Amino acid sequence: MGMRFSSTRNPGTEVSFREAIFAGLAPDGGLYLPTSVPDLTKLLAELDSNASTADIGEVVTSALLAPELSAEAAQRVARRAFTFDPVLVTLTDDIKVLELFHGPTCAFKDFGASFLAAIMEEFLTREASRAVILTATSGDTGSAVAHAFHKRENLEVVILYPSGRVSPLQEKQLTTLGDNITALEVMGSFDDCQRMVKAAFIDRPLNKRLGLTSANSINLGRLIPQAFYYIFAAVRLPADVRRKGPVFCVPSGNFGNLTAGVMARQWGLPIHRFIAATNINKVVPEYLDGGVYSPRASIHTVSNAMDVGDPSNFERLNAIFKGNRENMRSLIEGIFVTDEETRDTIGKVYEERKIFLDPHTALGVRAAMRYLAAKMENVPVVTLATAHPGKFLEVVEEVTGIRPPLPERLQESLRLPKSSVPLKNNPDDLKKFLLQQFG
Ligand SMILES: *Cc1c(COP(=O)(O)O)cnc(C)c1O
Repeated sequence: MGMRFSSTRNPGTEVSFREAIFAGLAPDGGLYLPTSVPDLTKLLAELDSNASTADIGEVVTSALLAPELSAEAAQRVARRAFTFDPVLVTLTDDIKVLELFHGPTCAFKDFGASFLAAIMEEFLTREASRAVILTATSGDTGSAVAHAFHKRENLEVVILYPSGRVSPLQEKQLTTLGDNITALEVMGSFDDCQRMVKAAFIDRPLNKRLGLTSANSINLGRLIPQAFYYIFAAVRLPADVRRKGPVFCVPSGNFGNLTAGVMARQWGLPIHRFIAATNINKVVPEYLDGGVYSPRASIHTVSNAMDVGDPSNFERLNAIFKGNRENMRSLIEGIFVTDEETRDTIGKVYEERKIFLDPHTALGVRAAMRYLAAKMENVPVVTLATAHPGKFLEVVEEVTGIRPPLPERLQESLRLPKSSVPLKNNPDDLKKFLLQQFG
């Protein structure tokens, strides 16, 4: 029958992968996880040391999802999704940086979004049906979704964003694609956008008529492909480190990235430990250190994509470790880093290596340094670099005195004309628009 998936809140009900990705959230409000852990130890150990993300994506997807997805389908999906690869850079003797920002929007979220788009396209084409992706964004995540779904067959994408409250570059990334991507410019706040999207999702007749679905970051179809780049990094390490497993340091907000790494380890990828690196929004490090788990309102920091006070994927992590903090702690070390330390690290790394780090990556590097200084265990750390420094050039320029170059892909979208549809901030107007366009 192949792999099945169930909700973190209701292990008894099982669904297929197709059902899990088109539902996004389980009907009981929980998150989907595989019901069993596949053993891919042999397959992973035999991977070539220069395997691309597409190569890894193909064999792992096929191993995980057969027979729901045939080997040919897994190959199609992986080749369509991963037209870009990470780059593994050596920073110091024992710290490497895995640059995940070489995709279409220069952020690691491109990996998850691209795979989800490709696999949804695969299912819909097979069934000759159609879906409408509806999502609200406060800036960054929407553009990864827009670029990933651009020109995918049988898929329409509608993105709501708050007018005047996203950066000019973020707005251009959302509004310049055209074709199957519609940007709705809402006269209101991000909360209004989210409220409108929620209202559309609970409107059952509307849902059915349009085939509404979400592509947000809790979707299992975005989580699974994030495991692939841990494998990509691991196969490139010296043979002894690859065999024993490195430490991965993961700059975390909603903890999707870290959860994907833990899944890769469950499948049999040797990983010594994880560092859960956060900014002052340190709910998880606090919990790991023996405190209570106390989600709360987020605090603004320089690593703003990680300003999360109530991480959505903690529910998944907790389910994987069966609610046992000691088990979680034996694998994951929580480290939080202040804004001051983050800025200091951007400055020092630039001074010493002439390498620009964005604030999220700098935070990770700082956590890795602190970990290495405390542990003396002689295991190298791979830190995930989650965004291109050019996307956070104000902070980077302020600290280093030099403006990091904006990647050509982003400069290109700045040159294109904006095209958005203005919309009032109420759910009825959204419903009217959706019915008019796709009803
Ligand atoms: C989303 C994001 C993160 C946090 O990733 P999670 O999976 O939510 O923990 C870190 N850095 C950047 C640049 C991001 O966009």
